[in-house]
Amino acid sequence: MCATAPSVHHKYVRKAGVGQRTVAGLVFNEQEIPCPHCHIGLIISTATSTVFMTEQMCPSCRKQFVIVNDVAITSDEYEMSHKAA
Ligand SMILES: [Zn+2]
Repeated sequence: MCATAPSVHHKYVRKAGVGQRTVAGLVFNEQEIPCPHCHIGLIISTATSTVFMTEQMCPSCRKQFVIVNDVAITSDEYEMSHKAA
C-alpha cells in the first residue's frame, strides 16, 4: 500500500518576529539560552552583547518566556518580580 502517511514532525519554525538582519555596523550575536519551561537550548540573536528585555515564544513547548539580562524566565516569574507588593 502506498498510503500517504501524515508527516507529523516538530516544525522548528523560527518565529523571530520582524527579522532585522542587515543593519550596517551592528554585529548580531547569537547565544544559547535554555527555555525556562522545557530547558531546550534556544539560540537568541541580538544586536547587542546583552539581552536586556525581550519576549519570546519557545518553538518547542510554545510557551512564552521573557529574557531579562541574558536570563530566561517565565512570564509568570517576570510579572511576579514586578508585582512584588
Ligand atoms: Zn520550551
